[in-house]
Amino acid sequence: MALYVHKYGGTSVGSTERIKNVAERVIRARQRGEDVVVVVSAMSGETNKLVAYAHEVQERPSPREMDVLLSTGEQVTIALLAMALEQKGCPAISYTGWQVGIVSDDAHTKARIEKIDTDRIQADLDAGRVVVVAGFQGVTAEGDITTLGRGGSDTTAVALAAALKAEECLIYTDVDGVYTTDPRVEPRARRLDRITFEEMLEMASLGSKVLQIRSVEFAGKYNVPLRVLSSFAEGGGTLISYEENGVEKALISGIAFNRDEAKLTILGVPDRPGIAHKILGPVADANIEVDMIVQNMADDQTTDFTFTVHRNEYPKALEILRSTCEELGGRQVTGDDKIVKVSIVGVGMRSHAGIASKMFEALAREGINIRMISTSEIKISVVVDEKYLELAVRALHDAFGLDKAPVAE
Ligand code: ADP
Ligand code: ASP
Ligand code: MG
Repeated sequence: MALYVHKYGGTSVGSTERIKNVAERVIRARQRGEDVVVVVSAMSGETNKLVAYAHEVQERPSPREMDVLLSTGEQVTIALLAMALEQKGCPAISYTGWQVGIVSDDAHTKARIEKIDTDRIQADLDAGRVVVVAGFQGVTAEGDITTLGRGGSDTTAVALAAALKAEECLIYTDVDGVYTTDPRVEPRARRLDRITFEEMLEMASLGSKVLQIRSVEFAGKYNVPLRVLSSFAEGGGTLISYEENGVEKALISGIAFNRDEAKLTILGVPDRPGIAHKILGPVADANIEVDMIVQNMADDQTTDFTFTVHRNEYPKALEILRSTCEELGGRQVTGDDKIVKVSIVGVGMRSHAGIASKMFEALAREGINIRMISTSEIKISVVVDEKYLELAVRALHDAFGLDKAPVAE
């Protein structure tokens, strides 16, 4: 029998009523003659609630204890879904990550899956059961519970699909596919029938939270066909695949944005070899990831150096930079955590000139000041003030005609 892995996100299992609807959907797949493994998230809002509890109790909870706590959300939904299936006469069994042997490294709160033991799942499937697996969690070789980073149930589903050699991994969520941009920000966003792994990976990396980055990496690496579709409506959703055939021949496929950004600048540091390392070394030592970097030359042999970090790391980065500034005899440290990154993504960019200038023109027309720019082969990102996020996304969506299907060349 053809095997499909279904994944249902937080909103899709947000109430017992919704869990019953998920059970109906799974049963319909069984009636079509499909074997089904289901991965579920915690009910929407649950993981955030658990994070808040932790911070009410301890200022800096250990990542190990965080994982013990955060993994409980998914344990609730697997049991409820298995019960809903049984209630409707469909044999089902639920498993936590450790029970099915989803072995990860020990990087608590952001662990990576290393291997999956499929024997137990396979035996249940062979016995005619639907297998319900908790998303977002694993276990280390030593037996400690881990979690896979926020949004990690997507990765559990893709990893299971790869290990079980499923036909497809179906990510059921609260939108009916991948759109040209987040439909919550631009209501004129258009659903894409197909998108390449490469573009989806870029979109996810640049902030589109519809899929966890690692799930797309994993799907690309193991060539797992991945489909994003609605758990509330019917429809084929968006297929993410290697084939360029049938993928829209658009210059730009989508717009991603990231609200979790902050930028820091050190002004007037002596411009000499090794300065970038002196500034960024201590930041890296503190395990703070740096994203965009810009260095500006001044006439007086000094330089200004700007970089961005995750907004959560902003206070820590600012503190480090202030002490670096003192050490290097810099003039001043400034920072801004009211900024966002907006990016346009598309493989079509490779073979077309003038995309950047079109982007900058569209932003200029709306009076949006660009604070930083970075480019790669298939994306251009700009940093702008937070208050311009919606305006920038909509202006770019319009400038590149993303609301209309592209005409074949
Ligand atoms: P789930 O709980 O099912 O994992 P998420 O909230 O993680 O769902 O992801 C779905 C959400 O992703 C949508 O509600 C939508 O607002 C957001 N989103 C961001 N960018 C996009 C995009 N390009 N296409 C579709 N949805 C997007
Ligand atoms: N429940 C986890 C989260 O909220 C994992 C997931 O939903 O994918 O991040
Ligand atoms: Mg998600």
